[in-house]
Amino acid sequence: MAAGPASPPDLPASLGAFSPAQGPGIEGPMTASAHPDHNWPDHDWPVLQPGWVWLCGAGPGDPGLLTLHGLNALRQAEVVVYDALVSEEILAWAPQARLIYAGKRGGKPSPQQRDISLSLIEQARAGRRVLRLKGGDPFVFGRGGEEAQTLVQHGIPFRIVPGITAGIGGLAYAGIPVTHRDVNQAVTFVTGHDATGAAPTSLDWGAIARGSQVIVIYMGIKHIAQIAGALLDAGRPGDEPVAVVANAATPEQRVLESTLARITADLEATPVPPPAVICVGRAALMRQALDWQALAAGAAPRNTDPLGRGRPAESA
Ligand code: SAH
Repeated sequence: MAAGPASPPDLPASLGAFSPAQGPGIEGPMTASAHPDHNWPDHDWPVLQPGWVWLCGAGPGDPGLLTLHGLNALRQAEVVVYDALVSEEILAWAPQARLIYAGKRGGKPSPQQRDISLSLIEQARAGRRVLRLKGGDPFVFGRGGEEAQTLVQHGIPFRIVPGITAGIGGLAYAGIPVTHRDVNQAVTFVTGHDATGAAPTSLDWGAIARGSQVIVIYMGIKHIAQIAGALLDAGRPGDEPVAVVANAATPEQRVLESTLARITADLEATPVPPPAVICVGRAALMRQALDWQALAAGAAPRNTDPLGRGRPAESA
């Protein structure tokens, strides 16, 4: 892809300077007055105190999409508990930390959510600086709410560091704006399967189809036939644009452009590797103009007016 992986910013390898003046304990100040590295932007950077857990989003893929708070956390963590969707490059930015894998990969048995939450508590109680790193944003279809609640229930102090979610940032890497004035005043994020792994039957697809011009589906590939069928049944047109963005914001990014009527057959003919987000709605057409990675690689825009406005984009 055009945007190569970002280089790690020039940060101190040693984190000694971060140690809170008052020593171990969880009562210390939330912030350090000055960052020890002159290369850091001037800001009151928080200290990851011993005994604390920071629940942090890593963004959808490209390490450059990690937030500065996320990077600040990585450089201080003694333990990083990470999910499958977190890139190895980001993990390499915490060379001092013990890395604990807590995700699903390649069909291997995955740790139970309860075990993950309890291991965070155990690490924190042992007085370690714990970073819980999840793909995208921890509070978007990521069970971050449950993990944080467990921390509260066990009296463990924590901080939430939001991340860029795949349904927004991943689509942006495919040149798809989740909102566009000429397309939608609402966007709905849905999960393609519920807690049991089945297609979410509890969702009112009719209401979603009527109420939201753009629908972004996470974890939707497995049940795409049912989801597309439900949207068509609810009156969405068969020729409505659909884009499937797989491995968004990584060098393996693949985009399948289709329509609601064709998407199931297209995915059967051209399977995409997980993870993938699906965008249903005319916003997906904007990729014909805004596929910035293709443009950066020298391609001409396929269409500079994909929504057929017939006038310059800057005009009212
Ligand atoms: N908390 C994450 C979502 C976790 S659920 C976030 O905010 O992004 C896992 C689902 O997220 C995947 O099934 C897929 O739908 C989506 N996803 C995560 N990373 C992705 C990526 N790089 N490309 C495409 N989809 C991704």
